[in-house]
Amino acid sequence: MSQQILNYVDGELKPSKNGTTIDNIDPSIGRVYSTLPASSTEDVNGAVLAAKKALPQWSGLSIEKRSKILHRIADNIEARREELALAESVDNGKPKHLANQIDIPRAAANFRFFASAIVGNSTDANVMEGQAVNYTRRKSIGVVGCISPWNLPLYLFTWKIAPALATGNCVIAKPSELTPMTAFLLSDVCIESGLPAGVLNILHGYGAEVGQAIVEHPEIKAISFTGGTNTGKKLAATAAPMFKKLSLELGGKNPNIIFEDCDFDEMLETTVRSSFTNQGEICLCGSRILVQNTFYDRFCSAFVDRVNKLVVGDPLTEVSMGALISYDHLQKIKYYVALAKEEGGTVLTGGREVRISGRCAEGYFYAPTVIAGLGNGCRFNQEEIFGPIVSIIPFKSEDEAINMANDTTYGLSATIWTSDVKRAHNVAHRLEAGVIWINCWLLRDLRTPFGGMKASGVGREGGDEALRFFTEAQNVCIKL
Ligand code: NAD
Repeated sequence: MSQQILNYVDGELKPSKNGTTIDNIDPSIGRVYSTLPASSTEDVNGAVLAAKKALPQWSGLSIEKRSKILHRIADNIEARREELALAESVDNGKPKHLANQIDIPRAAANFRFFASAIVGNSTDANVMEGQAVNYTRRKSIGVVGCISPWNLPLYLFTWKIAPALATGNCVIAKPSELTPMTAFLLSDVCIESGLPAGVLNILHGYGAEVGQAIVEHPEIKAISFTGGTNTGKKLAATAAPMFKKLSLELGGKNPNIIFEDCDFDEMLETTVRSSFTNQGEICLCGSRILVQNTFYDRFCSAFVDRVNKLVVGDPLTEVSMGALISYDHLQKIKYYVALAKEEGGTVLTGGREVRISGRCAEGYFYAPTVIAGLGNGCRFNQEEIFGPIVSIIPFKSEDEAINMANDTTYGLSATIWTSDVKRAHNVAHRLEAGVIWINCWLLRDLRTPFGGMKASGVGREGGDEALRFFTEAQNVCIKL
């Protein structure tokens, strides 16, 4: 019998008010294994009422008490790490060991980080000599909405919820309909951790229905969203005339700029990771690999050799890559490989579905794929694919590399590989991207601002940026 995922509203687990459900598929076996509520406006209305009821007590709680509850949630996520990692792997298709090492520990770290951040936080005071003293109060906003995607389900869901709760807001949150399971289990973690009823409400269902209803609700005053750029546009069009605060973390087409003077072995190992970790389904994956022409052939052959060693297979085993998120996503990847060939590209390796025998025979698996021979301007190198496909493009000069890197509508992240410290900084400063890694990738310090430029987003998450986003600054001026 399939498992039933429920909404979490006013401290209780319940089905949607209309009683309808959506099938949830395990992408590694291509079969339905659970159902989730197809929530609607009515559920959002109920959740907002619960949140408003809980708000005065939660926002008025001392920082120490709020922090203690959030630390308890972190403790309980850690205690249930194995169970959550298994659930994440089944729901998303990612290798279980990855969920166990990255996704779930990070979800706990998100709560722990913001639980501690509010305790250490201080506000500004400004003295106008002889005239007045000003201080800045940071008030919680009230009821806020958090909407997240399927690629790092619990990791990104908690990255929004934790700072929203820590700053004293009550939250209406919606995970992706493709990966609802760990958000459902989080409901249970919150109940066992003693989070007061109504403080966090988790609604499941389609983006265009319950997601849209969250964005439209007049009493939800801020929306923190991570997802696709087109969805972000729709969301902004709804929220802007209502003067809602908006944080949008959107798509990317991230460049890896590799100079010949880099540490070759370290670069190679990390570039394989930055291309194919989580099946390439990370917004920060480097999909355009720009390589200095002086060692282009050496790079291509070493890279392809290394990629050919990656193992695609049953995510519950020790594989490098598991299943893609859905049948539709698999079709999208196939479409882009065909497009690459049409545009004149050559498949250096991959470019095919992978058939796994046994349990995963009907799953959605695709080989890590490397394309060469395409100019930076073609559609394949401009549009976000969000899968296990990268393109290698040679460059002659630093200027050419920077121009190509910036020649995209996106601006999320970029990676630079060089041993020349002066060049590293100069190139970093000229890149139009919110996050720059030099000689590394996905090394994250939760205190740093996180987010994209251009079509990759509006606003920043992380550290003080998140604490600011989820609060309203109020200036209080006292005449001396
Ligand atoms: P998506 O935009 O389809 O969905 C994201 C979330 O928005 C889901 O919960 C979905 O149900 C909801 N949604 C859809 N339509 C909505 C609407 N009209 N109103 C409100 N909510 C709506 O994105 P996805 O396919 O789940 O995720 C992949 C995308 O997310 C990629 O573009 C990727 O780059 C991006 N992403 C960005 C970051 C980042 O930090 N910048 C991180 C991870 C993923």
